[in-house]
Amino acid sequence: MSDLHNLSVKALASLLQTKEVSAVEVATRFLARMGGNPHNAFLDIDSEVTLAQARASDAKLADGTAGPLEGVPVAHKDVFVTREFATTAGSKILSGYRSPFDATVVQRLRTAGMVTLGKLNCDEFAMGSANENSAYGPVQNPWDTARVPGGSSGGSAAAVAAGLAPAATGTDTGGSIRQPASFCGITGIKPTYGRASRFGLIAYASSLDQAGPMARSAEDCALLLSAMCGGDIDRDSTSLDMPSEDFSASLNHSLEGLRIGIPKEFFGEGLHADVRAAVDGALSEYEKLGAKLVPISLPRTELSIPVYYIIAPAEASSNLSRFDGVKFGHRAKDYTDLVDMYKKTRAEGFGNEVKRRIMTGAYVLSHGYYDAYYLQAQKIRRMIADDFQNAFKECDVIAGPVAPSVAWKFGENANDPVADYLADIFTLPASLAGLPGMSVPAGFGAGNMPVGLQLIGNYFKEAQLLNAAHRLQQATDFHLRKPEGI
Ligand code: GLN
Repeated sequence: MSDLHNLSVKALASLLQTKEVSAVEVATRFLARMGGNPHNAFLDIDSEVTLAQARASDAKLADGTAGPLEGVPVAHKDVFVTREFATTAGSKILSGYRSPFDATVVQRLRTAGMVTLGKLNCDEFAMGSANENSAYGPVQNPWDTARVPGGSSGGSAAAVAAGLAPAATGTDTGGSIRQPASFCGITGIKPTYGRASRFGLIAYASSLDQAGPMARSAEDCALLLSAMCGGDIDRDSTSLDMPSEDFSASLNHSLEGLRIGIPKEFFGEGLHADVRAAVDGALSEYEKLGAKLVPISLPRTELSIPVYYIIAPAEASSNLSRFDGVKFGHRAKDYTDLVDMYKKTRAEGFGNEVKRRIMTGAYVLSHGYYDAYYLQAQKIRRMIADDFQNAFKECDVIAGPVAPSVAWKFGENANDPVADYLADIFTLPASLAGLPGMSVPAGFGAGNMPVGLQLIGNYFKEAQLLNAAHRLQQATDFHLRKPEGI
């Protein structure tokens, strides 16, 4: 079968269950494609480990103990700790680090039968929107290698778009699943905060971090999300004590009468015309499917940028204090005493963006500034969440662009961190509110680059979002298009 790498998770799972292909055959094909590390998408590959997992899957398929996704490959963003692969979070400070345990999400996907292809490049500690902040070099966008793949889950998005993995995990703190999915023309969903366990997910901003799947279609995302979710209360106290759902079961519900809220703040000045055209196209498809478009307002959209860029760095400055060279990771070679060791280790180990955020975070939390910045930001965060609840009185889901533009060229924003921050405007509100959000391919814009439509649902409405995305994907073929030569 020559096009194994282009098959969906669903198709691969069924070929494996009926033994038309073996897990070893599938893994071998993907490992061959990963050779030479195209697009710099991977940070760790170990074919021995992958093949051993695939052989174990074949044994389970043979003896009838196979999981639902047995033998289907997946690759993990490098912020999920893994026993069998190194974990760096894209940082020099964790170079060569190996965890003694697997993250819950990794472990659950293994239990469902998935075979691990390796670890995926990302912005250092998931801080960024272009994957230009990885200590191990940027990832290229498979649609145009002169452009960024988005971030911070850039390796995940590029790997799926380039047919190096049928699916990947990502994390989304302020848009890091949705925006790279949009930039690379794939589908990704960030579930409600607390749906997926954060245990073993290297923390960036704990009140925002959430794991989710990235794949070619909503149907495939549903399969992975069902396997990933579920309470893990003993190991992550913020995980929701509720069982996962079979998200595939509700994929064919009619959209007749669905009220789609269109926030006017998402369609203002900053939105590029090409993105707007693609998003409008998707919205008229929804009208054809029986949905009604309802104008709504999310009045504090603009404030989500300063609010997020206070809260996320504040939490990061605390979370990243554990990287001190004492127990794991990089340690500076020459130092005079303990404090000197801390200073040199952290100065050498962290990149500029991470340092910038640690300093911002320490500043907004410091005595005398806490009330003016951090506390104020928390209050506005609450108001942003309330705005959504008001909006959901008038609509069932909210739709808009994922990002103001298509993927930009390397270097365009590299010396202007604020330009990157501003580009997060449409993904930050749902993150601050803890709502589920997804990106669905909606067309192509400037430079023939993919454009994603963002769908935001109310708490726990992942099934509704995935259904809405799936229906669009039955009516359009944007998610089936591939970069040339894939
Ligand atoms: N671009 C945002 C940031 O840099 C979001 C990143 C993320 O979701 N991990 O923080």
